[in-house]
Amino acid sequence: MNNNDANKTHYIACNLCEAICGLEIKLKEGQIKSIRGDAQDPISKGHICPKAVALQDIYNDPDRLRTPIKKTDNGWQAISWKQAYKEVTKQLKRIQRQHGKNAVAVYLGNPTVHNLDALLFGPMFFRTLKTKSRYSATSVDQLPEQLVSLLMFGHSLLIPLPDLDRTGFHIIFGANPVVSNGSLMTAPGVSRRLKAIRERGGQLVVVDPRRTETAAIANQHLFIKPGSDVFMLLAMLHVVFSENLQSLGTVGEFTEGLHVIEKLVLDYPPEKVASITAVEPQALQTLVRDFCAADSASCYGRIGVSTQQYGTLTQWLITVFNIVTGNLDVPGGTMFSKPAFEVITANKSGKKGFADHFSRVRKLPNFNGEFPVATLAEEITTEGEGQIRALVTSAGNPVLSTPNGNQLDAALAGLDFMVSIDIYLNETTRHADIILPPLTTLERSQYDLAFQALAIRNGAKFSQPVFKAGKKQRSDCQIFTELGWRMQTGNWLGKAGGWLKKEILQRLGSEWIINRRLKQGPYQQSHGLNLKKLKENPHGIDLGPMQPCLPDRLLTTDKTIKLAPQECVADLEKLNQRLLADEIRATSPEYDLQLIGRRNPRSNNSWLHNSYRMVKGKQRCLALIHPQDAKSRNLQDGDMAVVSSRVGAIRIPVVCSDEMMPGVISIPHGWGHQLPGTQLSVAKQHAGVNTNILTDDYFLDTVSGNAALNGVAVSISKDMQARQN
Ligand code: SF4
Repeated sequence: MNNNDANKTHYIACNLCEAICGLEIKLKEGQIKSIRGDAQDPISKGHICPKAVALQDIYNDPDRLRTPIKKTDNGWQAISWKQAYKEVTKQLKRIQRQHGKNAVAVYLGNPTVHNLDALLFGPMFFRTLKTKSRYSATSVDQLPEQLVSLLMFGHSLLIPLPDLDRTGFHIIFGANPVVSNGSLMTAPGVSRRLKAIRERGGQLVVVDPRRTETAAIANQHLFIKPGSDVFMLLAMLHVVFSENLQSLGTVGEFTEGLHVIEKLVLDYPPEKVASITAVEPQALQTLVRDFCAADSASCYGRIGVSTQQYGTLTQWLITVFNIVTGNLDVPGGTMFSKPAFEVITANKSGKKGFADHFSRVRKLPNFNGEFPVATLAEEITTEGEGQIRALVTSAGNPVLSTPNGNQLDAALAGLDFMVSIDIYLNETTRHADIILPPLTTLERSQYDLAFQALAIRNGAKFSQPVFKAGKKQRSDCQIFTELGWRMQTGNWLGKAGGWLKKEILQRLGSEWIINRRLKQGPYQQSHGLNLKKLKENPHGIDLGPMQPCLPDRLLTTDKTIKLAPQECVADLEKLNQRLLADEIRATSPEYDLQLIGRRNPRSNNSWLHNSYRMVKGKQRCLALIHPQDAKSRNLQDGDMAVVSSRVGAIRIPVVCSDEMMPGVISIPHGWGHQLPGTQLSVAKQHAGVNTNILTDDYFLDTVSGNAALNGVAVSISKDMQARQN
């Protein structure tokens, strides 16, 4: 690094969450002097949250792996990249030769989507495996939104986004953007944008079992029983039709199924669902009337409603509610982005079907070529043809982030072979035989393919590496193309062609692809957009607000919106039958509370717990419970409690709070770093338990197979052992 480079100021996009805020990183003598929000970023305008500062901790982390390691009888040993590639591909080929292609599975963690190289080059390797055993964090997160988009608009990435900056009325179901910074809605500085709705005379309403940080800045907060949002939405639609408030607006000419919806919601007047949702009928009616009377309005639901038993139905009805009230594809309603790198045409897999294949053991459907991750453990442990015997993980920690974590932990221990592409030896990768560490954020280029496509304001930004990678380090591009080439079989010519392709790809890297796609994209003519232009504008380029784009952007075969997809209608009919049979019970005498999750501004799933500055201070992994529920169980603030579910039990301190709805308990996820064999020296020293020991691999969204992490039936009691101690 020369003197100029050692004292340079870099402008990059933070890739830790979906907000992709612009950062200003100042170096002094080759070390990070400061990380601040980039005030000149035209979209994020200087916004930053506490997590961004931890990017330097990941880069400097002595626990972070920089070269491959292999598990041996004498512990983990460093090996060369050449040896690592050779052994990995030899083992994967052996297992596939002996047990078939599907015996090797792939799991992709959530950071994959925040990593340009992994998104572009990972698929090249995974295709060479020719396995159907594919899993990712999608099925513990946004599978319902993607399925609804596929069924209604023709592509799983064609997701309508709330036009926050122009909306006059915004309803939020099951999301806490003030803390999460927004999800499936790239809106840096989201608190400022939400407060601005009120400042311009609009309304912000939050529906959530907890009075969250977002509810605290809203005009109104409605408590709702976990998992019952589907009933509230059915009743909201009932009010729309019974009061003749429906109006499809601009999308009416190409929307099918309005009468089907009208008929379906007839059975759900607000009074009928009130005992299930705990939402007063009058409050619900007023909400719908005010929403419909507003000049512009948008309704949004996120992870709290996606990760519940009726996640797909709920996301479907949110979209239907926006459409039938005339709030799709209009400013201030919900709209589609127009990204500079057009992922929708580039990502053909987004048009792949739902339920083309079913999982071997439980017969759950696949979607976009992936099975629900809740089935991964049983596919590893259940003998028979197609049993998974080897696993490739990339940037994932499913032991902490997927349901019934203890079961998956035990299943991974029984694999014949596992390789992890990961920078940490963590709760999941401790089961690997070989770990291949790629580069970190500050060592690689970044263009946010996914999040620019989910941005509430169109923009483009290219981040260049802040630090040069060491000679012995490898990028995701190098790792994936090398593994892909080595997995290829066939004749000598095919192998030689593959080698050439790999060499070319490694030389050109992601920059060549980005430049090509930008030049083919929608802003080439209007803005002359290409990579050179982005490099000349390191703060990023504002490409304007979302614009109406339907029906052109629809990808259904007949260019119509399918308001009543058969998959959703069929499941709703089953729900109605369950309701008539009085089978809708969220809890039981044994497990009489419902569990929900929680986010913290300094946590990002399990990613940042090895940064001291992110975990220092008071313990944050606490169970929140309503004072009335605590009292009836003889629990007080600070008491250690045992929380149990059908699949497991954890010990956790309790905090009593009236921000909780009675009957509901909230525990954050991503914690539980005390398992042996990891190399996370900071995280290990900080208390916290894995809430996914409680979540149930058999408690799923009824349509998509997405994990239902919210609304899990649990019980809580005082930890008598702790009292004796
Ligand atoms: S809000 Fe997200 S993108 Fe912005 S600084 Fe924080 S972690 Fe980074």
